[in-house]
Amino acid sequence: MGKSLAVNAGSSTLKFKMFDMPSEKEIASGAFDRIGLGDSNIEIKYGDGQKFEETTDLKSHEDAIQILLDQLTGLNIIKDFKEITGIGHRVVAGGEFFTDSAVITDDTLAQIESLTEFAPLHQPAAVLGIKTFRKLLPDVINVAVFDTSFHTTLPEVNYMYSLPYEYYEKHKARKYGAHGTSYRYVSQRTADFLGKPLKDLKLIILHLGAGASIDAVKDGKSFDTSMGFSPLAGITMATRSGDVDVSLVQYIMDKEGISDIDDMVDILNHKSGLIGISGVSADMREVEAAQKDHPRAKLARKMFINRIVRYIGSYIAEMGGLDALVFTAGIGENSITVRKEVTDELGYFGIKIDQEKNDVRGVERDLSADDATIKTLLIPTDEELMIVRDIERLRK
Ligand code: ADP
Repeated sequence: MGKSLAVNAGSSTLKFKMFDMPSEKEIASGAFDRIGLGDSNIEIKYGDGQKFEETTDLKSHEDAIQILLDQLTGLNIIKDFKEITGIGHRVVAGGEFFTDSAVITDDTLAQIESLTEFAPLHQPAAVLGIKTFRKLLPDVINVAVFDTSFHTTLPEVNYMYSLPYEYYEKHKARKYGAHGTSYRYVSQRTADFLGKPLKDLKLIILHLGAGASIDAVKDGKSFDTSMGFSPLAGITMATRSGDVDVSLVQYIMDKEGISDIDDMVDILNHKSGLIGISGVSADMREVEAAQKDHPRAKLARKMFINRIVRYIGSYIAEMGGLDALVFTAGIGENSITVRKEVTDELGYFGIKIDQEKNDVRGVERDLSADDATIKTLLIPTDEELMIVRDIERLRK
């Protein structure tokens, strides 16, 4: 019996959820933003719809974590820090080394730091978060949960790039993927929902959030995934380009007089995707609403749908079949029209949804039409729950 904390530290943000364990009841959640940027917002939800809000100056993640700990007792969410049985940290890059979540020791922390080159924007914040919790709560176990570990099962043929082999040998240049914690949760929930062993299922999971990716799950393992060496690859996202021809990148840099590759990568990460094409918004809700009047918003949407359909087709071919197509994350769980438009393109495969069943947001449901030969499901993801389950599993 105790309380477990799932923490997601970004470069200027810190999000958390606290669960009562083993009941898995969520007892608090919150976010700290603009850390180090002035005018930081703090929001903590707890109890029966109570909310703590404050705007202040958070100079560092340590400030944020100190306030979080103060408020956990101050707001009576817990009575004593002794109630905290573990802290789980989302870590973006686990490389080839971390095939599972890991209890933090000096050694694992050093390993995580050594992988900073694989996620230069995200890894330092996670490391800082881990170090701060270790300092402030030295008796509590910390666990790192990696976005990549679920994908360490990819077969070589799917994780290798067609580049000189020595780059893999010397620099570990390969596909690592992302959203692995979500895929781990959703694949198991899907198997439970269908009442079949996961190892007997071929699944395609569409994790469609601001960051979006697609995973092919075969024999209970990640078999192929749309993100690549980094989360920039794959389908069109809110602000990320997804797959692009590298020669085009060189051409654009030349034409636009961009001399620093970091500036170009920043454009591909933050000014492309839905916002880049539509010029309207990075938020799918706004792109959807603008479609009528803005041809480019309509185009952005069509491209978003097209890239998803393209990956689904190739993953069905790669796996030699499919049992269920699964929608999850912000857009996947909430956009009735995205689900409709994606599945409308897939009738050839026997994928067909029932429009009445599809008229729903954020609940577990079989959306398939009666005459569909492949199931289409809506399974909301819960990465934080997966993180605290990992704490329970590993602290024993
Ligand atoms: P991330 O975790 O990558 O930030 P989320 O999974 O929280 O993303 O998804 C956020 C996205 O979900 C938002 O950018 C928004 O575009 C999309 N979204 C949320 N609700 C809806 C909706 N009703 N219709 C379409 N898109 C939605």
